[in-house]
Amino acid sequence: MDGNLNFEYEVKAISSIGRAKKFVLFPLKEKVNFKPGQFVKLSNKQGLGRPYSICSPPEWQHIEFLINVNVGEFTNYLGKIEVGEILNLSRAAGHMVYNKEEKAVFITGGTGIAPMMSIIRHIALNKFEGEFYLFYSARTLNDMAFYEELLSYSGIGIINFVPTLTREKLAGFYNERISIDMIEKHIKNLEEFTYFMCGKNQFVFSIRDKLIENGVDKSSIKVEGWG
Ligand SMILES: Cc1cc2nc3c(=O)[nH]c(=O)nc-3n(C[C@H](O)[C@H](O)[C@H](O)COP(=O)(O)OP(=O)(O)OC[C@H]3O[C@@H](n4cnc5c(N)ncnc54)[C@H](O)[C@@H]3O)c2cc1C
Repeated sequence: MDGNLNFEYEVKAISSIGRAKKFVLFPLKEKVNFKPGQFVKLSNKQGLGRPYSICSPPEWQHIEFLINVNVGEFTNYLGKIEVGEILNLSRAAGHMVYNKEEKAVFITGGTGIAPMMSIIRHIALNKFEGEFYLFYSARTLNDMAFYEELLSYSGIGIINFVPTLTREKLAGFYNERISIDMIEKHIKNLEEFTYFMCGKNQFVFSIRDKLIENGVDKSSIKVEGWG
């Protein structure tokens, strides 16, 4: 375990993706250790902070976050910061961790793609072989962060990418919320996979319950609920 409780990072780039912003941060000194799928508490100098999942894989020197801004107290602050700001990262935590499972299904919507990106990038970088599915929902294509990157992973056979847009009709996309019916159209042997789900509690727990009703063992479902 790290001796350090806090790690100082400098914001080096900020870009907008729909209602969210992507923040790229580099360590000032020591890098935080984490496993793909984990989160840290991100705080400012005044000690105001919230937990955020890491989008980047552990192999990268920098850290990426994808955060819906102007939601409440901390994200109003994050919405205004500029490149050069120094932020603190806590030690990493969280149990929705990828442990080299060879058959995995990732299910998420909106900024819940963040920990899935860390895992998928880790799989791609390490050339892990297996059968991987990503069910990813966003309101519109403009809100769908990392779409081109995910397409490239699907193009070279790393993931089976199933995107859905709930507020826009486009060829090649579902136009509905993720459901057990949608998952079963793509995966016949549900019980053979490990499931990773991230997002609002209501969304992730309703899908978890349906998976269990359909024969998936509880121990094969890893959930990160965001309240
Ligand atoms: C493990 C974990 C990982 C997370 N990862 C991410 C991530 O990668 N990306 C991301 O975008 N988010 C993530 N979150 C959510 C994040 O931690 C914050 O909860 C979120 O950014 C909102 O913080 P805030 O300070 O802006 O809102 P807060 O001020 O804490 O407000 C929280 C909610 O209350 C509402 N609210 C605030 N004030 C009022 C009021 N006066 N009256 C009524 N309602 C009010 C807000 O609209 C908001 O919905 C994660 C959460 C967890 C638990």
